[in-house]
Amino acid sequence: MTTLTSDARPVEIEAARRRSIAVISHPDAGKSTLTEALALHARAIDEAGAVHGKGNRAGVVSDWLEMEQKRGISITSAALQFAYGDVVINLLDTPGHADFSEDTYRVLTAVDAAVMLLDSAKGLEPQTLKLFEVCRRRGVPVITFVNKWDRPGREALELCDELEERINLRPTPLTWPVGEAGRFLGLLDRSNGEVRTYRRAPGGASLAEETVLSPQAAADALGEDHTEAVEGVQLLDPVDRASFLAGTTTPMLFGAALANIGVRQLLDAVVDLAPAPNARPDVDGGDRDVDQPFSGFVFKMQAGMDPNHRDHVAFIRVCSGRFERGMVVTHERTGRPFATKYALSVFGRERATVEDAYPGDVVGLVNASTLAVGDTVFDSAGPRVRFPPMPVFAPEHFAAARVADPGRSKQFRKGIAQLEQEGVVQVLISEARGDGNPILAAVGPLQFEVATFRMEHEFSAPIRMETLGLSLAREAAASDIETIAGYPGVEVVRRGDGTPLVLLRDVWHARAFERAHPDVPLIPLVASG
Ligand code: GDP
Repeated sequence: MTTLTSDARPVEIEAARRRSIAVISHPDAGKSTLTEALALHARAIDEAGAVHGKGNRAGVVSDWLEMEQKRGISITSAALQFAYGDVVINLLDTPGHADFSEDTYRVLTAVDAAVMLLDSAKGLEPQTLKLFEVCRRRGVPVITFVNKWDRPGREALELCDELEERINLRPTPLTWPVGEAGRFLGLLDRSNGEVRTYRRAPGGASLAEETVLSPQAAADALGEDHTEAVEGVQLLDPVDRASFLAGTTTPMLFGAALANIGVRQLLDAVVDLAPAPNARPDVDGGDRDVDQPFSGFVFKMQAGMDPNHRDHVAFIRVCSGRFERGMVVTHERTGRPFATKYALSVFGRERATVEDAYPGDVVGLVNASTLAVGDTVFDSAGPRVRFPPMPVFAPEHFAAARVADPGRSKQFRKGIAQLEQEGVVQVLISEARGDGNPILAAVGPLQFEVATFRMEHEFSAPIRMETLGLSLAREAAASDIETIAGYPGVEVVRRGDGTPLVLLRDVWHARAFERAHPDVPLIPLVASG
């Protein structure tokens, strides 16, 4: 059935023209630069530099985000939406700081494809690898963009080998550089053999001037380098959409985001290859088709974005139907109605009211303190649906938290519960410690800073944190838990849902434990969901 209102196109047509993606990369690979370049090409903004505005910060910045400012990092996970021809691209921001947190992973539950951005001189870096693993586990197909080809770097074929060997991902190039990194002469289009040469725009502030050479003209003008590029690209298979969607191959492109080189080709690849929003599985084993009434799930919570009003914004990925501001939706977990009068779209730092949204789009719901990460909302007039819970990502940092002023214990408990609900940190309970205080667990230490800041400023319950010398969580068979709890150097804790976890110092200690106790296996945490 199609939800149709007078002025709207059918939902399935709106869904089919959407591409919802995220860029995964290691800090400094050029994610902000690429984001700006993508938006520039799509003409959403006039000049690169206006979106994230590093060093040019303006707009809405709340008081608790002063921390973000001080550190010069972006905690706010925003979605950028722009039209490219008839296609609407939703580019979801993955916070990219070295202390990145679960937020970064969760964004990947809300996209249909990812762009893996590599620095040509560095190839696969630790955070790229971590994020790629999440994509692979969740079946998110990946397009690879090798950036900074204007600077000296590695050889194209060497980078291709690295993908195959380290992550078992077969690159299928769409473009290929003529001239090695740092001596960039042009970009070969594999589909027709044309070569584009570029004249860089000063400062990268506008589109680079492009000249298209026919294969023959390119051969004449670029000689040996052209021959080498043509021979190089032929060593690799051409793009194959089925294996890309299955996660075994990656369409690969080269360029320089700073000079806006190769960025249009990347946009075209996203449009041509990335899947449009599609039916989403629910927990009952069914599928919610895009043309069913509105539904979506919360993939991120953000507190205190507006300094004048301590609000909570829940970012929803629309899965089906048309969202209209003001419609009444049901919060699936509580069964309660939720008003959507204050729905936002978030463009960089600016907030704007959103009137309607379609599958693949992101909507921010204000006053959402009852919503939790992973919750489903759906059109109260339509059938009920529940999407699978947010996966739990393996924490690597652990700290015992206690209230600084015992007189604030009530606020402390309330605050910790709220932070757990929002997914700011994971909250674990240790019976062995016996003090009733929680152990906070995080993917990145930045999450602790956010928790500490909010406990003090929002709940008026400053906390003391004692970092534990542990970096690994494992599961174990329920029957083994009691035995394990008796061993030195391990700590047994419980999640809010009662699941026991075994905490260890590091992987070496886990291996030593397993060698000493081969009959007590420790099970690596698999992100569930
Ligand atoms: P992020 O940390 O991934 O968001 O990276 P940024 O976009 O902030 O870029 C990191 C640095 O790399 C900045 O100094 C950029 O100007 C630079 N950079 C990004 N793309 C390119 C490129 O294509 N060529 C060159 N030479 N530098 C680039």
